[in-house]
Amino acid sequence: MKARKLLMIPGPIEFEPAVLQAMGMATTSHVAPNFIETFGNSLELMRTVWKSPKGQPFIVAGTGTLAMDMAAANLIERGDNVLVISSGYFGKRFKDILDCYGANTTILEAHLGENLSLKIIEQELKIKQYKALTITHVDTSTGIIVDPKPIAKLAKKYNTITIVDGVCSVAGEELQQDEWGLDVVLTASQKAIGVPPGLALLMVSEKAMQVWKNRKTPVPNYYADWNNWLPIMRAYEERKPSYFGTPAVNLVVALETSLKIICNEGMDKRILRHQQLAKAFRASLSALNLTILPKTTAIAANTLTAVYYPEGIDGAAINAKMSESDVIIAGGLLPAIKATYFRIGHMGSVSANDLLAVLGALERALSQLGHPFELGKGLQTFQMELLNTNQ
Ligand code: PMP
Repeated sequence: MKARKLLMIPGPIEFEPAVLQAMGMATTSHVAPNFIETFGNSLELMRTVWKSPKGQPFIVAGTGTLAMDMAAANLIERGDNVLVISSGYFGKRFKDILDCYGANTTILEAHLGENLSLKIIEQELKIKQYKALTITHVDTSTGIIVDPKPIAKLAKKYNTITIVDGVCSVAGEELQQDEWGLDVVLTASQKAIGVPPGLALLMVSEKAMQVWKNRKTPVPNYYADWNNWLPIMRAYEERKPSYFGTPAVNLVVALETSLKIICNEGMDKRILRHQQLAKAFRASLSALNLTILPKTTAIAANTLTAVYYPEGIDGAAINAKMSESDVIIAGGLLPAIKATYFRIGHMGSVSANDLLAVLGALERALSQLGHPFELGKGLQTFQMELLNTNQ
């Protein structure tokens, strides 16, 4: 029997074997010609994935939180008004980071399971001049997706820059940075980008780079300061050696491998795969008499699903039984309701087979714990959905 566990949490995810092999190569110098080429290629490939031909990409060792920190440190100055549009835990994190840099932050929080209306956002933008607003494209704590496109339109109307936390969306959800007018779209390597944890990735618009250049005060953070990183990114793109902080060489090699896999699949095809698998999975959960956290499927993410445990059934026991079946899922994250729901990641190289394995294990766990449903109904629903979508 294979002792392999299937990692179905919303990051880190299951990685492609080629990406893991790339991680294991003999580490080269960060100024070796082959690595300069790899770094330069990775920056260029990011523009394709972000759909941002004009953007300035950054690849820095760190996590998604560093990417958020970098956006805040470089674009916000003490006293700047910033609007945080929150649909869960990670919206609040953005507020905490912005507060660290002395921003005058207003947070608009959606009701649990819902999104904020454009009307409420516009009302707030009318009250005062906001320098920036932040959006969590997919909040991993709630599995809710926010459409950044109409919000970016509003932001443009009110002369506000748009910063998107795309940690749980980039390379898994539809995103067109330049077309939609998003100023910063940031992510981390361990999610739909498909590389083990350790890289902070950002794409910054020309407008946001100008906002940064026009700062009146120095960036109050040494590691995050784009003054240190911009020359490095430029040098790698020009295929020239450079140094500020030693890059995570093996992770960058893995990044190039993964970005090539993503671009070979094609962005449109990749996004459609995520949408079709997520839709089929949600239908299957509903067939198992389970309720998802987002109140409508229209605002349910395609990269993960947050699901309530059935009433009267011990959630920890479900997770434990899934784990005994070698399927690893995540518990809740929102502090107020943490123990009432669980999360399943389905992003990156996720396949129908992975989700069939999840549903099989989930059905067995629910059946053993006495949840009323028709055994096989979730699997059957998933199969029917697949047959309808050619996955
Ligand atoms: N934003 C979102 C939406 C996330 O899902 C995460 C990680 N789960 C983060 C930010 C923070 O990323 P990291 O854990 O890599 O710092």
